[in-house]
Amino acid sequence: MSELYNNQVPFELKIKSMDENAQGGALEKSRPFGVASNGKKYYIESYGCAMNFADSEVVASILANSGYDSTKDYNEADLIFVNTCSIREKAEQTVRNRLQGFKVVKKRNKAALIGVLGCMAERLKDKFLEEEQLVDLVVGPDAYRSLPNLIEEAVSGQKAVNVLLSRDETYADISPVRLSSNGVSAFVSITRGCDNMCSFCVVPHTRGRERSRPPESIIQEVRNLYEQGYKEVTLLGQNVDSYRWSEDEKIRGKKLIDLKDTDLVFNFSNLLEEVAKVAPDLRVRFSTSHPKDMHDDVLHVIAKYKNICNYIHLPVQSGNTEVLARMNRTYDREWYLDRIAAINRIIPNCGISSDIITGFCGETEEQHQDTLSLMREVKYDMSYMFFYSERPGTLAAKKYADDIPLEIKKRRLAEVIELQNELSLISNQADIGTVVEVLVEKPSKKSEADLCGRNDRNKMVIFPKGNLRIGQYVKVKITDCTTAVLLGEVVE
Ligand code: SF4
Repeated sequence: MSELYNNQVPFELKIKSMDENAQGGALEKSRPFGVASNGKKYYIESYGCAMNFADSEVVASILANSGYDSTKDYNEADLIFVNTCSIREKAEQTVRNRLQGFKVVKKRNKAALIGVLGCMAERLKDKFLEEEQLVDLVVGPDAYRSLPNLIEEAVSGQKAVNVLLSRDETYADISPVRLSSNGVSAFVSITRGCDNMCSFCVVPHTRGRERSRPPESIIQEVRNLYEQGYKEVTLLGQNVDSYRWSEDEKIRGKKLIDLKDTDLVFNFSNLLEEVAKVAPDLRVRFSTSHPKDMHDDVLHVIAKYKNICNYIHLPVQSGNTEVLARMNRTYDREWYLDRIAAINRIIPNCGISSDIITGFCGETEEQHQDTLSLMREVKYDMSYMFFYSERPGTLAAKKYADDIPLEIKKRRLAEVIELQNELSLISNQADIGTVVEVLVEKPSKKSEADLCGRNDRNKMVIFPKGNLRIGQYVKVKITDCTTAVLLGEVVE
């Protein structure tokens, strides 16, 4: 799943983000009107995909409603939470190392509590308490409402655990506290969990069955964000294309193909259209799409509304049909390429990115070559690329031998990265001389004299600061590029 708090939010297998973009702390946010402070402060740090970052905002809201204040400095916190990721072994190790860093806080303040949230909590359950002695609370992704009670239990000296998964929890009524927000872009969750059971993936085991959030609560949250001055929303779900809502519980659970014409179902294309209609100057992004569920109706809605960004993250994982079958992705190479052809036909000039795994169980050299040839054919703007890491409890771990030697996995990954760098450079070079609209997001990391923001195709653009403000739309003429970014001058 995802990187970062930079809103490039693809969902599947995004450990890079976890290592490089952990989000720490929280803004000093006021509690809701009428809620008195209980004198205690919490600190929250998030790892992994965008969904985790969005969940931390739900946790912050629940804590604020119970009288807790946030702090950006864990040294002064009474409660330290780490929202964790299990997608790869390396991700889990990073969290364990981080937990060790909090030992000093416990030494200084014996009453301080440390809580582990999210996917690792769900995967390891109370075993976590044995393995990491300094952890006091273990709370799974569907149990955040119970946090105030669990904190009380932990304060009284008990070890507090709630990792129950739910079939209907969507936190729809909870208004997230926007942590470390730039006030411009916000995540909005539309589904939770995943029913897909890709054989390599731990997510269905840690985040439970898929549930869609009622559309009216999503639209209301988007309206509120717009009224607060936000300029961009990213709709989040493990598989946004399988979003569906009907007042009738039984209908909601059905596959689209099983539905009769008379069944009233609100699907992702309907939702996307309603969100786009909230305001013409509110940019709309979404992630992640699943190739098996991304149908033309969604593409037509993207083409119809100027404020829906022309960018689709469509993870392929492998370019070989047999490997895809072992991965249980439920589409083949031809189906995937047909979806790419549909994107290019319906949304000309659409940015496309992917997730790719090298060295999956049984992958031959020829099958690896199929991945490279598919990449050349699609010409991705960008990809999140990893070598396969077996996760306990997954279908692949039970069914297939993790039989590709590490050095071969890594060599194949290096080849995939090298090719992606070539493709990204070609794609970026093609933009030189064009004028693109950019939403100004933040100062550039490399130079105080520059700002940066993304264009419609999700490419990061860097340009001189001048008198520009964060949150403004500007027209930038692209004058140069690297494999990762476009460089330009403001023309309007
Ligand atoms: S099971 Fe598949 S679709 Fe679901 S989150 Fe994992 S990789 Fe994505």
